[in-house]
Amino acid sequence: MTYLALVPAAGSGSRMGALSGRALPKQYLPLAGQPMIWHALATLCATPAIDHVFVVLAPDDAHWPAAAMATLGPKLHVLRCGGDTRAHSVANGLRAMAGELGERMDIGNDWVLVHDAARPCLTVAMVENLIAEVGEDDAGGLLAVPVADTLKRADENGRVRQTVPRDGLWQAQTPQMFRHRLLLDALDFAPQVTDEASAIETLRLAPRLVAADASNLKVTYPLDLQLAEWILQNRGKPCR
Ligand code: C5P
Repeated sequence: MTYLALVPAAGSGSRMGALSGRALPKQYLPLAGQPMIWHALATLCATPAIDHVFVVLAPDDAHWPAAAMATLGPKLHVLRCGGDTRAHSVANGLRAMAGELGERMDIGNDWVLVHDAARPCLTVAMVENLIAEVGEDDAGGLLAVPVADTLKRADENGRVRQTVPRDGLWQAQTPQMFRHRLLLDALDFAPQVTDEASAIETLRLAPRLVAADASNLKVTYPLDLQLAEWILQNRGKPCR
């Protein structure tokens, strides 16, 4: 079985930029001594089961820190084919990675783990658990956490319209892993999705939910960056 990782990193991080006042795309903001994206790429490159790690940049990206990334070794490949949405960036990356691995005839059956550049606290153990739990499941799977809070649907005045039962609700994270050909077909069929699992679901397949934990957070707002910094600095220390 061959496992490949694909990290879409062609976003501008507009929500973070608006609040932090920084023009640098969020994946390049400094975090624990490295650009944020370095951390997820380092974890994926350090996962023995993963043969190649592809990062998808915007074609005009002028911020890619090539020197810092050179420390990650030969597994890492840079693809400058980002699109105008995350789904387009992933689909473009899936096509380009096949060309990049030209020595191999067909990667359609290979597993692709798609991971957000903005989830820097991923660990090798989380990736290995996902791979083990999904196994050879045709529908693939994703890391996720059961919803812990009580959920409210708001009306147009910012008041509670309804309490939404949280039973059976999960928050989707990444990595999300699917066979290369299936994922490309799904994204061509449903290009408006915000994650890969949603595209697979439109094919009437039910990806497997693999329990992770909240430390695999997505950095969207400035506070998230501080939380991620704390997690990376304190990982492995006993909880008090
Ligand atoms: O903006 P958001 O945090 O939801 O983006 C999730 C991931 O998708 C990020 O890693 C971002 O760089 C990537 N992305 C992309 N191409 C886009 C938009 C987002 O690769 N056009």
